[in-house]
Amino acid sequence: MIPVTTFKDKAVALFGLGGSGLATAQALVAGGARVTAWDDNPDSVRKAAEAGIATQDLRSIDWPAQAAFVLSPGVPLTHPKPHWTVDLAKSAGVEVIGDVELFVRERRAHAPDCPLIAITGTNGKSTTTALIAHILKASGRDTQMGGNIGTAILTLDPPKDGRFYVVECSSYQIDLPPTLDPTAGILLNLTPDHLDRHGTMQHYADIKERLVAGSKTAIVGVDDSFSALIADRIERAGVAVKRISKRQVVANGLYAEGTRIMAAEGGTGAVLADLDGIATLKGSHNAQNAAAAIAACLAVGVSVDEILSGLKSFPGLKHRMQPVGRLGHVVFVNDSKATNADAAAPALSSYERIYWIAGGLPKEGGIASLAPLFTRIVKAYLIGEAAPAFSAQLGEAVPYEISGTLQQAVAHAAADAAADSEASAVMLSPACASFDQFKNFEVRGDAFVSLVAGLDGVTMLIETGKGN
Ligand code: ADP
Repeated sequence: MIPVTTFKDKAVALFGLGGSGLATAQALVAGGARVTAWDDNPDSVRKAAEAGIATQDLRSIDWPAQAAFVLSPGVPLTHPKPHWTVDLAKSAGVEVIGDVELFVRERRAHAPDCPLIAITGTNGKSTTTALIAHILKASGRDTQMGGNIGTAILTLDPPKDGRFYVVECSSYQIDLPPTLDPTAGILLNLTPDHLDRHGTMQHYADIKERLVAGSKTAIVGVDDSFSALIADRIERAGVAVKRISKRQVVANGLYAEGTRIMAAEGGTGAVLADLDGIATLKGSHNAQNAAAAIAACLAVGVSVDEILSGLKSFPGLKHRMQPVGRLGHVVFVNDSKATNADAAAPALSSYERIYWIAGGLPKEGGIASLAPLFTRIVKAYLIGEAAPAFSAQLGEAVPYEISGTLQQAVAHAAADAAADSEASAVMLSPACASFDQFKNFEVRGDAFVSLVAGLDGVTMLIETGKGN
């Protein structure tokens, strides 16, 4: 845990005790702050009280006496409308901050030189975060990874010289730390997402911009127009910018040419890394993630050799285009995280011959947007509630069966792929939520992995039974 010492002996109000909120309250208390915490959910309040946190309805506290108001990233700051606590804090002139802000203040107070890499973007955040942390760890560096990727930032070990932090930030988390100052900040890409919470695309982009605007080195994917404008703007403001592209030459930064990552200084490119043969980094979207990760590692002093060896041994993230098993010339790929058509597109683009397991609880639009990729699908195995709608959208274009369950789908797809004379992938990339048949996408992915592990003669490419 990181005791938050910057609010020692001061009163701090905190709202939102689910997720990282309780850990944040405990870190504040451990550092000597006088915390008053609350939540709309009585269960969360009860749990916090049991953990020794002082709880009180924030409608009745002495707001002007508070040194800060700490808000959980899950609670609306601005859209669709500010939460009632935000109105109370603002009218009392109390600053509204989040756990990432508490962390950066702690770092500045105790170990301002310890490298901090912060990652944001619409897609690829977790992959890039995990890849950077893996490269750092594999090179023997003391590495802490947290934030939106799952480990609450204040539960990490405290900042000290020589310790590296890799922190994934959702847009909600960047809205709350006004002084976020990473050594290297990454903005991967920007496409419309979460607009219910941010109002407009421009407001969403403005929030994301803050992470790179405050960075010593800003690493910006420039393949979409919003991010490209941000790169130009912060560069004009004096930030050192490295541009990343998965499809075009950039003047100063890293770009992908097929599987090769090229380094450009003043317009001339030299091959820095080749992702060919790295199964966990297939696809042009992963070239974007890898290029950004390489740029960040270079910015914090990792050598090219150390980076290359880390790239090669990257185990990938569970449930995201993860090669999990092999049977002869068939590879089994778990992409259970693809809960809508957009998220399934990169996986379908990354393999040439696919036995595709899809379906679940359908999202609006179904799989219509995937039609340009249908030529790669040898056969589809449809499961869950979406099966009838998906079969109609596949129509004559792709052979399919309604398998119903994941169990049937894996058995049939494996048998068909084994009988195929060409190499192929059996892939779970459902383009649907999981809730009709599974608790969540993780449980669905784990079920796929167990079914694959049960196939005769299969070689598993991951350790089963524990996270990787
Ligand atoms: P996030 O943490 O931003 O949700 P993840 O790294 O968990 O992203 O990847 C989720 C899915 O998004 C992946 O399975 C893949 O389909 C897609 N994806 C990953 N990286 C990118 C990228 N750079 N651009 C577009 N899509 C991506």
